[in-house]
Amino acid sequence: MDFSLSKAAKQRIKMARMAAEGMMRPISRQFDEEEHTDPWDFFNMMWDVSKGNRKATGLGGGKEKGDSGPSENTLLACVQIEELAWGDAGLYLSIPNPGLGGAAVQAVGTPEQKERFLAHFYDGEPKWAAMAITEPHFGSDSKQVATTAVRDGDEWVLNGTKIFCTAGDRALNKSEGYVVVWATLDKNKGRPAIKSFIVPANTPGVEVSKLEDKHGIRASDTVSITLDDARIPADNILGNPEIVEKGREGFKGVMATFDSTRPIVAASGIGVARAALDYVKETLAESGIEVRYEASAREMTVLEKEIMTMEAQLQGARLLTFKACNMMDRGERNSREASMAKANAGKVSTQVAQKCVELLGPLGYSRKLLLEKWMRDAKITDIYEGTQQINQLIIARSLLDYGSAELN
Ligand SMILES: Cc1cc2nc3c(=O)[nH]c(=O)nc-3n(C[C@H](O)[C@H](O)[C@H](O)COP(=O)(O)OP(=O)(O)OC[C@H]3O[C@@H](n4cnc5c(N)ncnc54)[C@H](O)[C@@H]3O)c2cc1C
Repeated sequence: MDFSLSKAAKQRIKMARMAAEGMMRPISRQFDEEEHTDPWDFFNMMWDVSKGNRKATGLGGGKEKGDSGPSENTLLACVQIEELAWGDAGLYLSIPNPGLGGAAVQAVGTPEQKERFLAHFYDGEPKWAAMAITEPHFGSDSKQVATTAVRDGDEWVLNGTKIFCTAGDRALNKSEGYVVVWATLDKNKGRPAIKSFIVPANTPGVEVSKLEDKHGIRASDTVSITLDDARIPADNILGNPEIVEKGREGFKGVMATFDSTRPIVAASGIGVARAALDYVKETLAESGIEVRYEASAREMTVLEKEIMTMEAQLQGARLLTFKACNMMDRGERNSREASMAKANAGKVSTQVAQKCVELLGPLGYSRKLLLEKWMRDAKITDIYEGTQQINQLIIARSLLDYGSAELN
């Protein structure tokens, strides 16, 4: 067992830290205040950086069939994203890249689809990809997908409404990107009939119908999308178009998207909470208060104990996240570990960010500092990509070998 980071990972951290400090922190408050505005200078700079290092901001790299030797793509993405979220979680989510949409392509797409939707993603102008699962009547219970996809000749015709789609506006209206839309081929056939579809920008019948005003991650856009007889090419269905009852070819395959995205969300939450903790430690140090790691339990102040507890919580969350990444990079199924990483990081990052506000008292609550913002930003870790409770449910089912009908 080796917990040390590779040279490539250390380099990734260094580069991301430079972007976080130099490009994100200076505009952090501005784009928190100005939700629904687009920091194009930041987008263009990050696009240029990402172009040179294509896998750097992509999700779900994992191990590919035919890869020789171990990969560390998912781990590299995670360490990088912790730093970027340390800079600003909303801006990190706004970086033009394949994002969640790309992770879906990576998880279920055919080699030809990966070539079409991922290999050329960084050609041309900045663009975004997004993923739309949630609908007005459900979020957690994904078997409730009611958006329909009907085959008509060489096309699929999609109808329905999606809500809370991150980067949806930038993918559809501000670039030549795409949204991966979950839709059912047959509502009577339940989960196996749910498939994901690539809906490109400028598809007639696709409209961004609402921009959300949010509590945190306000630099990122979150939108509702309506699909009204939206026609897309037949080969834009990801993976197998047949309704398959079990295995990777069926709904399990669609859900595999989360195996790479949940560790990433965990890493971003850890980054936000670490920003808050670093700030508190710096502020205390400026007042001459250093944490005495060597102090005995009897001598230790409450403050020191709180800080060490938070550091331990974050390191525990980080190691659980690394484990989920490492399994994916070795080509192992990591669904349980991805949920463990996400559920734990959601809880820990929310607690740590809130405790940091508490430790600085009224100053922590003031908008003069970014602490209150980090507390707002941290909470999303617990909500999207499956709430904490839903991920706990997935872990319990996996440990007990129960299906979703037996434990829900
Ligand atoms: C800022 C933001 C960005 C988002 N981005 C995206 C996106 O890009 N794409 C997308 O598709 N969706 C996105 N979402 C939606 C998000 O994934 C859902 O909000 C989330 O899955 C929860 O679903 P819900 O809102 O319907 O809550 P509900 O499912 O109604 O849950 C409400 C509460 O009940 C709990 N609960 C539900 N079922 C159970 C159960 N069986 N046992 C115990 N507790 C339960 C939940 O944990 C939660 O605390 C985003 C949401 C937000 C806020």
